[in-house]
Amino acid sequence: SVNSQNAEIDGNVLAAKSLSRFGATHMFGVVGIPVTSLANRAVSLGIRFIAFHNEQSAGYAASAYGYLTGKPGILLTVSGPGCVHGLAGLSNAMVNTWPMIMISGSCDQKDFGRGDFQELDQLEAVKPFTKFAVKAKDIRDIPNCIAQVFNWAVSGRPGGCYLDLPTDVLHQTISESEAEGLLKSAENLRETLANGRIVSSDIELAASLLREAQRPLIVFGKGAAYARAEGELTKLVEATGIPFLPTPMGKGLLPDTHELAATAARSLAIGKCDVALVVGARLNWLLHFGEPPRWSKDVKFILVDISKEEIELRKPHLGLVGDAKKVLEMINKEIKDDPFCLGKNHPWVEAISKKTKENVSKMEAQLAKDVVPFNFLTPMRIIRDAILEAGSPAPILVSEGANTMDVGRAVLVQTEPRCRLDAGTWGTMGVGLGYCIAAAVASPDRLVVAVEGDSGFGFSAIEVETLVRYQLPVVVIVFNNGGVYGGDRRNPEEIAGPHKDDPAPTSFVPGAAYHTLIEAFGGKGYLVGTPAELKSALAESFAARKPAVINVTIDPYAGAESGRMQHKN
Ligand code: ADP
Repeated sequence: SVNSQNAEIDGNVLAAKSLSRFGATHMFGVVGIPVTSLANRAVSLGIRFIAFHNEQSAGYAASAYGYLTGKPGILLTVSGPGCVHGLAGLSNAMVNTWPMIMISGSCDQKDFGRGDFQELDQLEAVKPFTKFAVKAKDIRDIPNCIAQVFNWAVSGRPGGCYLDLPTDVLHQTISESEAEGLLKSAENLRETLANGRIVSSDIELAASLLREAQRPLIVFGKGAAYARAEGELTKLVEATGIPFLPTPMGKGLLPDTHELAATAARSLAIGKCDVALVVGARLNWLLHFGEPPRWSKDVKFILVDISKEEIELRKPHLGLVGDAKKVLEMINKEIKDDPFCLGKNHPWVEAISKKTKENVSKMEAQLAKDVVPFNFLTPMRIIRDAILEAGSPAPILVSEGANTMDVGRAVLVQTEPRCRLDAGTWGTMGVGLGYCIAAAVASPDRLVVAVEGDSGFGFSAIEVETLVRYQLPVVVIVFNNGGVYGGDRRNPEEIAGPHKDDPAPTSFVPGAAYHTLIEAFGGKGYLVGTPAELKSALAESFAARKPAVINVTIDPYAGAESGRMQHKN
């Protein structure tokens, strides 16, 4: 009988049970040989399986899910090509330092090396994109392997992990009672996070550097968001009156509208600060490597990061290895014992606030115009206002594309933490639909709004079917300017050779009816080209909280090539 302790279960069932025991509540993926039964078993154990059209999008979803929830996002793929497609998500998780587990079926172990169906040395293939990878060589390894990937994904600096499940292992059987024993001992492997040891003299030093600074600045990034450090950051900023600067995905930990926000005075803030407390943000290209000419050569960096390697790489004036929330809690405590506050009339605070006001009013003057055919600014202002009107809980904003993301970052307002997902550390394009799906299932109380370029949308546009199938509250707004950067921008002398009549490499079909894609599956599509049309589409789709695509016609000559990265193209 099914309930008998002597009933046999196979590797698929044992893997599903192990995932459930380790707290998995969602999985993303594409099923097929040999993992279909694993997905079905997981569902029957209460795990929500979101089935995608391709593993790339599913992988992006898993990576973002890890960031949003702090639990590893799980991607399930078939062997060989499925695993290779999944590497997109795995590498994205690694580069952004988000916890993720990719589980791939693989070919029969006895046929490996003989050209088996979808054969690949998957452990080797995932190596550059994982912090830990393991193969279950026998059904009895499964619970233990799952314990290990769960621990590795979230411990220290979060990242991607990989579990390989060969076909023969998934088909092997053991008794229920033996399985139960294995599950119990695997559960004992569950580790509590080691928090690193923070030296109290370093905390004292950090506090005194901030206290003695003439022009202090607090910079925070998506590592601080991941650490859920918003409460401690708010306390620190409000107690000390130090201006702050979020990275793009750090936006919202404190509201963009806060009077100490230096976002609109970014060049001044980073160019002139003498002490910068940088929390959960790498001094990589996004922060100009912390070097002149963008930063002053004498700036003293205090870096807070969970990763010792990161701190060793940057050689800051002071490095604090630990969880952002814990470290800030300690700094706050230290400051409370000997408080200081810059105040509104402090010359540094005044300078930043003056510059902010100037830049904001310049931008507002641009935004106030209703430009038709649409440039990037007019529709972005209308979207900003609609998002703000949506109130709290704030929608999760997904953003990608060159011009669309650049303009969106400056115009759209983030008021709540972890409500912005964009191309991230790698500048990955094509993440949008996967991120939307992850955001909708991870935060069911929030509306998800994607503001995408037409090229970013096109990477995985078919996933609008997934939105409709699961009825997710996602509104995808496509800035349609007819191509990458916007149609054909070649100089006449660049147009030559036997294929000169082909469309430009940057161009797509002009006036593509992207809104009809979602209608093919029963979702709602809108085509808009004027402020009134856009406002009405936003009002209707935000209220409906149903899958929708708003196709916004943008002047193909608006915007810059390569967004703001012209020098690199
Ligand atoms: P951004 O793109 O916002 O600048 P990065 O991805 O460059 O942010 O940096 C995030 C940093 O946060 C990484 O170096 C990572 O090691 C670190 N990090 C991750 N989790 C934590 C945590 N819990 N506490 C502190 N730092 C963390």
